[in-house]
Amino acid sequence: MRTTEAAAIRASLIREVAFELNRRAAIAIPRDVESSIGDLARRETQKLSKFVLLEIVNNYKAAVDDQRPMCADTGLPRFYAKVGNDARVEGGFVALERAVREGTAEATRKVPLRPNRVHPLTRKDYNNNVGIHAPTVDYSWEPEADWIDLTCFQKGGLFGGDYRMLFPQDGIPGIKRFYLDVISEFFKRGLSCQPAIVGVGIGGTKDVCVRLAKEAACLRVVGDRNPDPGVAELEEELHEIGKKTGLGPMGFKGEGAVLDVHVEVAYTHTGGMPVSIHHQCFALRRATARIHPDGNVDYRENPLWFTGYYRRETVS
Ligand code: SF4
Repeated sequence: MRTTEAAAIRASLIREVAFELNRRAAIAIPRDVESSIGDLARRETQKLSKFVLLEIVNNYKAAVDDQRPMCADTGLPRFYAKVGNDARVEGGFVALERAVREGTAEATRKVPLRPNRVHPLTRKDYNNNVGIHAPTVDYSWEPEADWIDLTCFQKGGLFGGDYRMLFPQDGIPGIKRFYLDVISEFFKRGLSCQPAIVGVGIGGTKDVCVRLAKEAACLRVVGDRNPDPGVAELEEELHEIGKKTGLGPMGFKGEGAVLDVHVEVAYTHTGGMPVSIHHQCFALRRATARIHPDGNVDYRENPLWFTGYYRRETVS
C-alpha cells in the first residue's frame, strides 16, 4: 500500500508521447513481426509467395531508411491506456484524452499520416484523424503502479473479422470450422493483406468476444502464448491449421497466410459460446510508452496489455 500520492503526469508530456507513438508506429514495424515474416520468407518454397514476403521485409526496411510510413494507408489511429491504480494526470483524464487527440492531429500533419477519418454519412474530413469517437482510447487498470502505459495502434484493413454465436455442443470443432470459414472467405482474396495475425475471442458477450479477438490480434507479440495451457494448445492447433490451408501471402499459394494465432477467453452464458475472429494485416503498426510521474518515458514494442490483472486471474 502506497503512503504518498504520486506526482501528476503532465498533460503536455502525454501530448508529446502521443505524437511520438504515432510517428514510431507508422514507420517502424515491431521486431517480432519483422523477424517472423523474414523466417516465413526463408522457409517458403513457392516462388511467388517467397517474392512477396521478401518484398514486405524490404518495404519495412525502406520505411525506416526513409523515415516514412510503411503503408500508404496509415490506418485508423487508436489508443490503449493501461493506468496504474495510483497514477494521476494533471487536469484529470479528460486532459489525457485531449492530449491524445492533439498528438494525433499533429502527427497527421507532420509524420504525415493519411487523414483517413471521415464522418460516415457526410464524409466530412477534418484532415487530422480526429472526430466523433476518433481516436478511441480504451482503458485498463493495473494495481500497485503509478505510471500510464500508452499504446498507439494504427489499425489497417477494412474487413477486420467476423462473429458467430456457437453453442456449447459445437465445442472446439465448431471453433475450428468458423476459423477456416473466415480464412477462406477473407484470405483467399487477399482481403486481409496477409500474412496476418489472427485473434480469436471466445466467450463473454458479443461485444466482449469481438473486443478480445481484436486485442489478441493487435496487442500480443508473435510467439506469445496464453498462460492457460488448454488455450495455448488451441492457439498452436489453429496456427497449424492455418499453415495447411495452402494459402500464402496476399492470397497466393503457400504456407504463410497466418503469422500467428492468439486466443483469449472470457466466462460466458451457460447456453452459448460466442466466438469472434479478427485478422491484423502485416502492417502491424504499434508502439508503447510507459510514462512515469517523474517525467521519464520508456518506449518499447510489447504493449504487455494482457496482464494477470487484466484477465482478472488475480482477482479473488
Ligand atoms: S490492410 Fe494493412 S497492409 Fe493492406 S493496405 Fe491496409 S494498412 Fe496497408
